[in-house]
Amino acid sequence: MSHLHTTPVKVHTCHRCRTVVLTGWAEGLHTRADPTPLNRAGIIAAILTTRTIYRLTRTGLIHLDQERIKSANRAPVLPEHHCGNPTPTEHHATTTDDTTETTEEVIPF
Ligand SMILES: [Zn+2]
Repeated sequence: MSHLHTTPVKVHTCHRCRTVVLTGWAEGLHTRADPTPLNRAGIIAAILTTRTIYRLTRTGLIHLDQERIKSANRAPVLPEHHCGNPTPTEHHATTTDDTTETTEEVIPF
């Protein structure tokens, strides 16, 4: 078996903070990721804070480096699990970015 093997993820509970994490081997590195996908703002925030991010695929977690992140792959992007440092809700892909209600402002003249 190659030392860069990748395995499908498994769902675990973090021993320290008791949150659900996805674990698996990502190209030879044992990885724990938060299960909630990031939206674009979350991906940018992760890059800025040098938090490792992964693309979740059928074969497992793929480490996203600067080259891979440019590809148009639409698979969910997950952040590395950091105990006590969960992803802010506004960075969750499940939270829609553009829900600001556009209220038509009527000019009274
Ligand atoms: Zn934890």
